[in-house]
Amino acid sequence: SLQIQNSQDRYSLDVSAPLLRTQGYVDGRWVSAASVFPVLDPATGQEIARVADCGAAEAKQAVDAAYKAFQSWKRSTAKERSILLRKWFDLLTLHKEDLARLITFESGKPLKESLAEVTYSASFLEWFSEEARRVYGDIVPSPLRDRRIFLLKQPVGVASIITPWNFPSAMITRKVGAALAAGCTVVVKPAEDTPLSALALAELAEQAGIPAGVFNVVPCSREETPAVGQVLCTDPLVAKISFTGSTATGKVLLKMAADTVKKVSMELGGHAPFIVFDSADVDRAVSGAMASKFRNSGQTCVCSNRFLVQSGIYDRFVEKLGRAMDAELRMGHGSDPQTTQGPLINQRAADKVEQQVSDAVSRGASVLRGGKRLHGSFMEPTLLVDVSTDMLCTKEETFGPLVPVLRSVPGDARRPSV
Ligand code: NAP
Repeated sequence: SLQIQNSQDRYSLDVSAPLLRTQGYVDGRWVSAASVFPVLDPATGQEIARVADCGAAEAKQAVDAAYKAFQSWKRSTAKERSILLRKWFDLLTLHKEDLARLITFESGKPLKESLAEVTYSASFLEWFSEEARRVYGDIVPSPLRDRRIFLLKQPVGVASIITPWNFPSAMITRKVGAALAAGCTVVVKPAEDTPLSALALAELAEQAGIPAGVFNVVPCSREETPAVGQVLCTDPLVAKISFTGSTATGKVLLKMAADTVKKVSMELGGHAPFIVFDSADVDRAVSGAMASKFRNSGQTCVCSNRFLVQSGIYDRFVEKLGRAMDAELRMGHGSDPQTTQGPLINQRAADKVEQQVSDAVSRGASVLRGGKRLHGSFMEPTLLVDVSTDMLCTKEETFGPLVPVLRSVPGDARRPSV
């Protein structure tokens, strides 16, 4: 059972003040906007902060600042950039506990996973601080006697960085570490649900001595997102867009980027199959399924989404998987040490899983474990059997703790296609 209802006062975000930033960060300054938007703890629904709701004007200021800073940052030496990235890495490591608490309170992720994310997030800064020194060029044998061919690697310019809420710190450093190492400058737009981790990164970037305008953050609400996105994807001063998020949003950004032919990197949604053949070791298959499905309550892009299991092993697999779910999964607030399953990020995310479960049941699936929506955005880890390919959960990404298991019969024309 869930112990969060009526015990909201037990959970309060206790993070050292300098890391709890609520303004945008543009050109090395903390900036307000015309309004603010609330950041909620998805486990309790409590407001944990109010953050500046940046719009097109602040986004444009950030792009201009990044462009101005690019003129000098691109001339810094690889060694200078390397030293600054290393300092930033050291500061993330020093403030690991506070940064992890921010992730847990704004995204719902269990603290153990948040600590792992901070380590992962910092590792990109460490990696690129080292790679910054190794951006070698090349000399290519020329087909003509009177020519020499040299390849130089040069920074492209301002990069717009648009990131999702499920890894609120690591998705930023993964992109920004590479950009800064190469000599680019950036404007980051974090997800509405998780701006605090991005702003804490800005605070530590400043402490590390990263020059004004090199790293900018424009937090905004979902209402302002299209206007901010428009600036970040169409402004002629932006050379590159790096995005991680859903396929639908990726298509919108690609269209906007086309007019000024920007360079783009897109990491989009998933629909990963998990396949178990009759010959499999069922215990290993079950532990693989647990690891690949339930991390971050099923909200990672590499979470298995549909389970295709051959008929000879089907019953043993679902029986053992159900028992493993009973034994290993504990729902709760991410800051409780025994919690393995936090809430989903928001009500819409829980609505989607609930809808997939009811659609599957209406089409003949049976619920073997879970199936219920609990208070707020909590959703029980759910095991569905007798799943068929006409059900929504086999067609679209779930992004939640749902295991739909399809029985695959050799020679059956209706068997799920892999
Ligand atoms: P999303 O809705 O696409 O949001 C991602 C980011 O895009 C958020 O910051 C969002 O802002 C922003 N955005 C939405 N519309 C925009 C617009 N018109 N202009 C500019 N920015 C815009 O994705 P999500 O639901 O947060 O994240 C889950 C998805 O990400 C899943 O599909 C998952 O598979 C994918 N993902 C992929 C990877 C990977 O490595 N391939 C990693 C993690 C996640 P708002 O929050 O304000 O809407």
